[in-house]
Amino acid sequence: MPTRNDIIDDILQRHLPAEAGAYVGHLLATRDVVLRVSRPRLTKLGDHRPPRPAHPVHRISINEDLNAYAFLTTLLHEIAHVEVWAKHVGRRRRPRPHGPEWKSEFAAILAPVVAAQWLPGDVASALESYMRNPAAMTCSDRGLVLALARYDTASASRHRVEDIPQGGLFRVANKKVFCRGRRVRTRYMCVEQTTGAEYRVHALAFAEPLAAAGITADRRTETAAEAGKGRGSVAGGRCCRRRAAAGRDVARSVCS
Ligand SMILES: [Zn+2]
Repeated sequence: MPTRNDIIDDILQRHLPAEAGAYVGHLLATRDVVLRVSRPRLTKLGDHRPPRPAHPVHRISINEDLNAYAFLTTLLHEIAHVEVWAKHVGRRRRPRPHGPEWKSEFAAILAPVVAAQWLPGDVASALESYMRNPAAMTCSDRGLVLALARYDTASASRHRVEDIPQGGLFRVANKKVFCRGRRVRTRYMCVEQTTGAEYRVHALAFAEPLAAAGITADRRTETAAEAGKGRGSVAGGRCCRRRAAAGRDVARSVCS
């Protein structure tokens, strides 16, 4: 029966750039982690679950459809969560999930990967600029998301929500159809066409255009979108009213 380390080695061989396997293998071997590859999820690309009485080890899962560089970045993101948890367990104040403690750990774990030149130049420079500006180190760093997406075999010809014109209709991966409204920071207010419910859809989520510019949804949904009474959120898994049901939050690519 394969051991936990055998399973980890197999996953790393299949999903990581070959040069990075030994480094990441060492990080995982020195921490009590179970690594699993998950079917593609709409609301996240990876996650970390800390030990619980019923599962006394850290559990990390990464979506199986990520390209090697996105898989590596997402896995290191989750390992940084393991580090923060291990260093702060039992303390009264719990660090915020992506607060200063996590940013510091993530930068430290990433640094050897960037220095070793295991990544293509555009991904490495996106990561370098990401690390130079901790204030901007969010799960949705635009430069990093776009650099990683260049290596998605299926994404070259795919559209994103930000490519859809105002009032245009688009479909996301779970088949829901939306009318695109105004932009609010990193997301667009969008109205789901079956229910009229509003969602905030991430600007970088993949979208299939359904209508040419100027062809709009009915007036009721347009008006609702303009009013900006957002009730749901697609992306990031922070839906206020209903669980994110549509397009992947590409930004959260590196987020649990
Ligand atoms: Zn995270």
